[in-house]
Amino acid sequence: MEPCEICPRLCRVDRVTRTGFCRAGEVPSVARAALHFWEEPPISGTRGSGAVFFSGCNLRCVFCQNGEISAHIKGAPKNAEELAQIYLRLESQGAHNINLVTPTPHSLVVADSMERARAQGLKIPFVWNSSAYERVETLRRLEGLVDIYLPDFKYSSDLLAKKYSAAPDYCSIAEAALKEMWRQCGPLLVDGGGVAVKGVLVRHLLLPRGVENARRVVDALAGWFGGGEKGVALSLMRQYTPMHLVLSEPQKFAAIARRVTPLEYDRAAQYAMDAGISQLWLQGKEAASSEFTPLFNGEGT
Ligand code: SF4
Repeated sequence: MEPCEICPRLCRVDRVTRTGFCRAGEVPSVARAALHFWEEPPISGTRGSGAVFFSGCNLRCVFCQNGEISAHIKGAPKNAEELAQIYLRLESQGAHNINLVTPTPHSLVVADSMERARAQGLKIPFVWNSSAYERVETLRRLEGLVDIYLPDFKYSSDLLAKKYSAAPDYCSIAEAALKEMWRQCGPLLVDGGGVAVKGVLVRHLLLPRGVENARRVVDALAGWFGGGEKGVALSLMRQYTPMHLVLSEPQKFAAIARRVTPLEYDRAAQYAMDAGISQLWLQGKEAASSEFTPLFNGEGT
């Protein structure tokens, strides 16, 4: 394997013999591949999103809501052809789309799998569900394969990104990645049933004490892409639950060792509305529950 330069970490390791920052091996490990009903309505629709969860991650979010599979490689190794067969099976189960969750460290194998599935007749859209901590050069390899980008935009401050995700250059990297995604797919388009068929839907997970961060995220998105009907679509998530290192090192991460308050969420939501973001998805407070975290039990692998 070529020295790995898939993502901005540029580890340049040979992943056949060593692992880099993301801990991922040469072949992706899939921890779960099943219909998922807890994404945004345009992604889950009525029949569910065909979610394929990959192990490993190129961020180290201390609050990771999927720490079981980001910090550990868990699941069944799958090559490109085996992945293609998983996508075709999910389509036959009624999935509205194939939702590739944390695919970044496996971008090249996953791109190959997408081409194989299309060649074998897959009709439903591909969703690239990532952190936006990605290289533009790698994203260009996905042009024409990805139908819907579903990236996080986590931070408007590199200080926060360094403290909570070990990514001190997150803001500029994510800005370039989001602009490339927009160039490829543009505004979110939905079918007559309100289910996404193409475009970009950005997620922001509101953190405790994170209203100012959220405001700057909204300002940046509205400035780059506009906020009206043809502007950015934003999902403002309130499901933050203290997990992962925040639970095991509560003193170190005391600032985020609680849930988001209703007042914090209302302030961030109002700011997004006042900024003119008309395609805005909000979550009820019941979303802040570990019940919304999928079980990584190997289902569907
Ligand atoms: S994908 Fe993994 S190994 Fe490759 S550069 Fe990124 S973090 Fe390093």
